[in-house]
Amino acid sequence: MVNIGAITTAVSGSVGVLKEIGSIAKRAGNREINEHLLDLQQRIIEVQGLLTELISENETLRRRIAELENAAKTEGELKFEESAYWMVRDGKRFDGPLCPNCWDDKRKSVHLTPNESRGLYYCGVCKSGPFIIGEDKRASIAFVSSGPSKFNEVL
Ligand SMILES: [Zn+2]
Repeated sequence: MVNIGAITTAVSGSVGVLKEIGSIAKRAGNREINEHLLDLQQRIIEVQGLLTELISENETLRRRIAELENAAKTEGELKFEESAYWMVRDGKRFDGPLCPNCWDDKRKSVHLTPNESRGLYYCGVCKSGPFIIGEDKRASIAFVSSGPSKFNEVL
């Protein structure tokens, strides 16, 4: 891996060396060398600016890689059951239910929120639902067909 800090130090050191050479050329009265040194100094300052942009872009890419690695790790443990996703390890659920729409669309793991009615869940982010989850499916289905829920009225 490239050590960006070492590059920054080297470039900054180059500017210092150029300043020294510039003052020597000035004392010697060599105007031509001094002009070329000023040009070179300006170019190194441009390189410093580009290096700062590169460092920023590198940090952004590192964060994105970490997000993607995390999503890939999550996806490896994700299982779709009962109309939602669950985190499953060694055959056992350890997290969920998670919104299928948020995961399928944006790879975001968003917990579904239970409604007052047992077995009904909604997503607080994409507002999808109800998702019918759990043992009490019959009662939940009857509740859904009886009209809009409080959750939908709020929207
Ligand atoms: Zn959602």
